[in-house]
Amino acid sequence: MTNTVLHVADVHKSFGGLRALSDVELEVEEGKVHAIIGPNGAGKSTLLNVCIGRIRPDRGHVIFNGETLDRHEPHEINQLGVSRVFQTPEIFPDLTLIENVMIPAFARRDGAFRLNAIMALSGEKEIRDEAEFVLEDIGLSARRHHEAGSLSRGDKRRLELAMCLIQKPKLLLLDEPTAGMARHDTNMTIELLQRIKARGMTKVIIEHDMHVVFSLADKISVLAQGSIIADGTPDEVRGNPKVKEAYLGE
Ligand code: ADP
Ligand code: MG
Repeated sequence: MTNTVLHVADVHKSFGGLRALSDVELEVEEGKVHAIIGPNGAGKSTLLNVCIGRIRPDRGHVIFNGETLDRHEPHEINQLGVSRVFQTPEIFPDLTLIENVMIPAFARRDGAFRLNAIMALSGEKEIRDEAEFVLEDIGLSARRHHEAGSLSRGDKRRLELAMCLIQKPKLLLLDEPTAGMARHDTNMTIELLQRIKARGMTKVIIEHDMHVVFSLADKISVLAQGSIIADGTPDEVRGNPKVKEAYLGE
Protein backbone atom coordinates (compact mmCIF):
# COMPACT_ATOMS: atom_id res chain seq x y z
CA MET A 1 0.00 0.00 0.00
CA THR A 2 1.25 3.47 -0.80
CA ASN A 3 1.34 6.19 1.76
CA THR A 4 0.22 9.73 0.86
CA VAL A 5 2.70 12.22 2.31
CA LEU A 6 1.10 15.37 0.95
CA HIS A 7 -2.52 15.88 0.02
CA VAL A 8 -3.64 19.19 -1.47
CA ALA A 9 -7.41 19.05 -1.21
CA ASP A 10 -9.66 21.29 -3.32
CA VAL A 11 -7.48 24.38 -2.95
CA HIS A 12 -8.62 27.75 -4.29
CA LYS A 13 -6.64 30.98 -4.24
CA SER A 14 -7.43 34.32 -5.86
CA PHE A 15 -5.36 37.49 -5.95
CA GLY A 16 -7.98 40.22 -6.30
CA GLY A 17 -9.92 39.24 -9.42
CA LEU A 18 -7.28 36.80 -10.62
CA ARG A 19 -7.86 33.11 -9.97
CA ALA A 20 -4.40 31.71 -9.37
CA LEU A 21 -5.59 28.26 -8.20
CA SER A 22 -8.98 26.63 -8.54
CA ASP A 23 -10.06 23.18 -7.42
CA VAL A 24 -6.51 21.94 -7.12
CA GLU A 25 -6.12 18.32 -6.01
CA LEU A 26 -2.72 16.73 -5.58
CA GLU A 27 -1.63 13.52 -3.88
CA VAL A 28 2.05 12.94 -3.39
CA GLU A 29 3.12 9.43 -2.43
CA GLU A 30 5.95 8.57 -0.08
CA GLY A 31 9.38 8.19 -1.69
CA LYS A 32 8.18 9.45 -5.06
CA VAL A 33 9.21 12.39 -7.21
CA HIS A 34 6.09 14.27 -8.23
CA ALA A 35 6.62 16.94 -10.88
CA ILE A 36 4.33 19.90 -11.44
CA ILE A 37 4.64 21.37 -14.90
CA GLY A 38 2.74 24.07 -16.73
CA PRO A 39 3.13 27.32 -18.63
CA ASN A 40 4.33 30.54 -17.00
CA GLY A 41 1.71 32.06 -14.73
CA ALA A 42 -0.12 28.71 -14.36
CA GLY A 43 -0.02 28.93 -10.55
CA LYS A 44 2.87 26.55 -9.82
CA SER A 45 4.77 28.79 -7.38
CA THR A 46 1.51 29.80 -5.72
CA LEU A 47 0.71 26.12 -5.15
CA LEU A 48 4.13 25.54 -3.63
CA ASN A 49 3.72 28.58 -1.36
CA VAL A 50 0.34 27.26 -0.21
CA CYS A 51 2.03 23.96 0.73
CA ILE A 52 4.60 25.67 2.94
CA GLY A 53 2.16 28.08 4.63
CA ARG A 54 3.44 31.24 2.95
CA ILE A 55 0.12 31.74 1.17
CA ARG A 56 -3.19 30.80 2.78
CA PRO A 57 -5.73 29.23 0.45
CA ASP A 58 -9.18 30.87 0.22
CA ARG A 59 -10.69 27.39 0.34
CA GLY A 60 -9.43 23.84 0.73
CA HIS A 61 -6.69 22.26 2.80
CA VAL A 62 -3.13 21.05 2.74
CA ILE A 63 -2.64 17.79 4.65
CA PHE A 64 0.88 16.64 5.47
CA ASN A 65 1.31 13.15 6.95
CA GLY A 66 -2.31 13.20 8.03
CA GLU A 67 -2.07 16.60 9.72
CA THR A 68 -4.06 19.57 8.36
CA LEU A 69 -1.78 22.58 8.04
CA ASP A 70 -4.44 25.34 8.00
CA ARG A 71 -3.17 27.19 11.05
CA HIS A 72 0.51 26.30 10.94
CA GLU A 73 3.12 29.00 10.44
CA PRO A 74 5.81 28.40 7.79
CA HIS A 75 8.50 27.65 10.42
CA GLU A 76 6.20 25.10 12.09
CA ILE A 77 5.63 23.38 8.74
CA ASN A 78 9.39 23.35 8.28
CA GLN A 79 9.83 21.71 11.68
CA LEU A 80 7.32 19.03 10.73
CA GLY A 81 9.74 18.04 7.96
CA VAL A 82 8.93 20.16 4.90
CA SER A 83 11.82 22.03 3.23
CA ARG A 84 11.77 24.04 0.04
CA VAL A 85 14.02 25.55 -2.60
CA PHE A 86 12.60 28.78 -3.99
CA GLN A 87 12.73 30.06 -7.54
CA THR A 88 15.09 32.83 -6.42
CA PRO A 89 17.82 31.62 -4.07
CA GLU A 90 17.43 32.81 -0.49
CA ILE A 91 20.89 32.59 0.98
CA PHE A 92 23.02 34.72 3.32
CA PRO A 93 25.52 36.34 0.90
CA ASP A 94 27.92 37.67 3.57
CA LEU A 95 28.28 34.33 5.38
CA THR A 96 30.46 31.45 4.22
CA LEU A 97 28.99 28.40 2.53
CA ILE A 98 29.42 26.29 5.62
CA GLU A 99 27.69 28.90 7.81
CA ASN A 100 24.82 29.09 5.31
CA VAL A 101 24.34 25.33 5.53
CA MET A 102 24.53 25.28 9.34
CA ILE A 103 21.77 27.86 9.87
CA PRO A 104 18.84 25.73 8.63
CA ALA A 105 20.07 22.87 10.82
CA PHE A 106 19.56 25.11 13.85
CA ALA A 107 16.19 26.26 12.51
CA ARG A 108 14.97 22.67 12.19
CA ARG A 109 16.24 21.72 15.66
CA ASP A 110 15.48 24.86 17.69
CA GLY A 111 12.47 26.34 15.89
CA ALA A 112 12.38 29.64 14.05
CA PHE A 113 15.76 30.99 13.08
CA ARG A 114 17.26 32.89 16.00
CA LEU A 115 19.68 35.73 15.40
CA ASN A 116 22.07 34.37 17.98
CA ALA A 117 22.32 31.16 15.96
CA ILE A 118 25.17 32.83 14.09
CA MET A 119 26.94 33.30 17.43
CA ALA A 120 26.61 29.60 18.10
CA LEU A 121 27.88 28.52 14.69
CA SER A 122 31.51 28.03 15.60
CA GLY A 123 30.87 25.90 18.69
CA GLU A 124 28.58 23.24 17.23
CA LYS A 125 30.82 20.41 16.08
CA GLU A 126 28.07 17.97 15.23
CA ILE A 127 26.21 20.40 12.98
CA ARG A 128 29.47 21.62 11.43
CA ASP A 129 30.41 18.02 10.55
CA GLU A 130 27.00 17.49 8.98
CA ALA A 131 27.36 20.72 7.02
CA GLU A 132 30.77 19.56 5.75
CA PHE A 133 29.21 16.28 4.66
CA VAL A 134 26.32 17.96 2.83
CA LEU A 135 28.65 20.39 1.02
CA GLU A 136 30.80 17.43 -0.05
CA ASP A 137 27.67 15.65 -1.27
CA ILE A 138 26.63 18.63 -3.34
CA GLY A 139 30.09 19.29 -4.77
CA LEU A 140 30.79 22.66 -3.12
CA SER A 141 33.16 21.47 -0.43
CA ALA A 142 36.29 23.11 -1.87
CA ARG A 143 34.70 26.54 -1.45
CA ARG A 144 33.20 25.98 2.00
CA HIS A 145 34.99 29.00 3.51
CA HIS A 146 34.13 31.38 0.67
CA GLU A 147 31.34 33.94 1.03
CA ALA A 148 28.11 32.67 -0.48
CA GLY A 149 27.64 35.95 -2.36
CA SER A 150 30.67 35.13 -4.52
CA LEU A 151 29.06 32.00 -6.04
CA SER A 152 27.65 31.77 -9.56
CA ARG A 153 23.88 31.66 -9.88
CA GLY A 154 23.92 27.91 -10.47
CA ASP A 155 26.11 27.29 -7.42
CA LYS A 156 23.86 29.50 -5.26
CA ARG A 157 20.96 27.27 -6.24
CA ARG A 158 22.95 24.18 -5.28
CA LEU A 159 23.88 25.83 -1.98
CA GLU A 160 20.21 26.40 -1.28
CA LEU A 161 19.58 22.73 -1.96
CA ALA A 162 22.33 21.88 0.54
CA MET A 163 20.56 24.14 3.06
CA CYS A 164 17.45 21.98 2.61
CA LEU A 165 19.25 18.63 2.70
CA ILE A 166 20.85 19.31 6.07
CA GLN A 167 17.35 19.49 7.52
CA LYS A 168 16.77 15.85 6.42
CA PRO A 169 13.24 16.74 5.30
CA LYS A 170 10.47 14.18 4.87
CA LEU A 171 9.25 16.25 1.95
CA LEU A 172 11.39 18.46 -0.27
CA LEU A 173 9.72 21.04 -2.50
CA LEU A 174 11.74 22.50 -5.35
CA ASP A 175 10.66 25.47 -7.46
CA GLU A 176 12.52 25.28 -10.77
CA PRO A 177 15.81 24.03 -9.27
CA THR A 178 17.66 24.26 -12.59
CA ALA A 179 16.35 27.67 -13.70
CA GLY A 180 19.19 29.87 -14.94
CA MET A 181 21.67 26.98 -14.96
CA ALA A 182 23.94 26.06 -17.84
CA ARG A 183 23.54 22.51 -19.18
CA HIS A 184 26.55 21.24 -17.21
CA ASP A 185 25.09 22.53 -13.91
CA THR A 186 21.67 21.20 -14.86
CA ASN A 187 23.11 17.72 -15.41
CA MET A 188 24.97 17.87 -12.09
CA THR A 189 21.74 18.85 -10.37
CA ILE A 190 19.80 16.01 -12.03
CA GLU A 191 22.47 13.55 -10.94
CA LEU A 192 22.30 14.92 -7.40
CA LEU A 193 18.49 14.74 -7.29
CA GLN A 194 18.64 11.16 -8.57
CA ARG A 195 20.99 10.25 -5.73
CA ILE A 196 18.62 11.84 -3.19
CA LYS A 197 15.75 9.97 -4.80
CA ALA A 198 17.59 6.71 -4.22
CA ARG A 199 17.60 7.57 -0.51
CA GLY A 200 13.81 7.64 -0.53
CA MET A 201 13.16 11.34 0.09
CA THR A 202 9.76 12.43 -1.20
CA LYS A 203 9.94 15.37 -3.57
CA VAL A 204 7.67 17.80 -5.37
CA ILE A 205 9.52 19.46 -8.21
CA ILE A 206 8.27 22.37 -10.27
CA GLU A 207 10.18 22.36 -13.48
CA HIS A 208 10.12 23.94 -16.89
CA ASP A 209 12.91 21.86 -18.38
CA MET A 210 11.32 18.70 -19.81
CA HIS A 211 14.67 16.91 -19.83
CA VAL A 212 14.80 17.32 -16.04
CA VAL A 213 11.17 16.29 -15.59
CA PHE A 214 11.45 13.13 -17.64
CA SER A 215 14.78 12.20 -16.00
CA LEU A 216 13.34 12.35 -12.50
CA ALA A 217 9.56 12.23 -12.17
CA ASP A 218 7.52 9.19 -11.16
CA LYS A 219 4.34 11.17 -11.56
CA ILE A 220 3.47 14.45 -13.28
CA SER A 221 0.61 16.89 -12.69
CA VAL A 222 0.00 19.54 -15.31
CA LEU A 223 -1.24 22.92 -14.15
CA ALA A 224 -2.74 25.42 -16.60
CA GLN A 225 -4.52 28.64 -15.62
CA GLY A 226 -4.78 27.49 -12.02
CA SER A 227 -6.29 24.05 -12.66
CA ILE A 228 -4.82 20.56 -12.92
CA ILE A 229 -5.59 19.58 -16.52
CA ALA A 230 -3.83 16.21 -16.52
CA ASP A 231 -1.88 13.88 -14.29
CA GLY A 232 -0.24 10.49 -14.54
CA THR A 233 3.05 8.83 -15.35
CA PRO A 234 5.50 10.67 -17.65
CA ASP A 235 4.39 8.50 -20.59
CA GLU A 236 0.70 9.17 -19.95
CA VAL A 237 1.25 12.92 -19.68
CA ARG A 238 3.57 13.10 -22.70
CA GLY A 239 0.88 11.77 -25.00
CA ASN A 240 -1.97 13.88 -23.61
CA PRO A 241 -3.36 16.30 -26.25
CA LYS A 242 -4.58 18.75 -23.57
CA VAL A 243 -1.01 19.12 -22.35
CA LYS A 244 0.33 19.83 -25.83
CA GLU A 245 -2.38 22.44 -26.29
CA ALA A 246 -1.56 24.19 -22.98
CA TYR A 247 2.09 24.49 -24.00
CA LEU A 248 1.33 25.79 -27.50
CA GLY A 249 0.18 29.11 -26.02
CA GLU A 250 3.63 29.80 -24.50
P1 ADP B 1 3.93 30.10 -12.08
O1 ADP B 1 4.85 29.81 -10.93
O2 ADP B 1 3.22 28.88 -12.61
O3 ADP B 1 4.63 30.83 -13.19
P2 ADP B 1 2.59 31.85 -10.19
O4 ADP B 1 2.05 30.94 -9.15
O5 ADP B 1 3.82 32.61 -9.87
O6 ADP B 1 2.76 31.07 -11.57
O7 ADP B 1 1.47 32.90 -10.58
C1 ADP B 1 0.14 32.53 -10.94
C2 ADP B 1 -0.65 33.79 -11.23
O8 ADP B 1 -0.89 34.49 -10.00
C3 ADP B 1 0.05 34.77 -12.15
O9 ADP B 1 -0.90 35.38 -12.98
C4 ADP B 1 0.67 35.76 -11.19
O10 ADP B 1 0.82 37.01 -11.80
C5 ADP B 1 -0.34 35.80 -10.08
N1 ADP B 1 0.26 36.08 -8.75
C6 ADP B 1 1.17 35.32 -8.11
N2 ADP B 1 1.46 35.83 -6.91
C7 ADP B 1 0.73 36.96 -6.77
C8 ADP B 1 0.58 37.94 -5.74
N3 ADP B 1 1.26 37.85 -4.59
N4 ADP B 1 -0.29 38.96 -5.96
C9 ADP B 1 -0.98 39.04 -7.11
N5 ADP B 1 -0.90 38.15 -8.11
C10 ADP B 1 -0.06 37.12 -7.96
MG1 MG C 1 6.85 30.10 -10.62
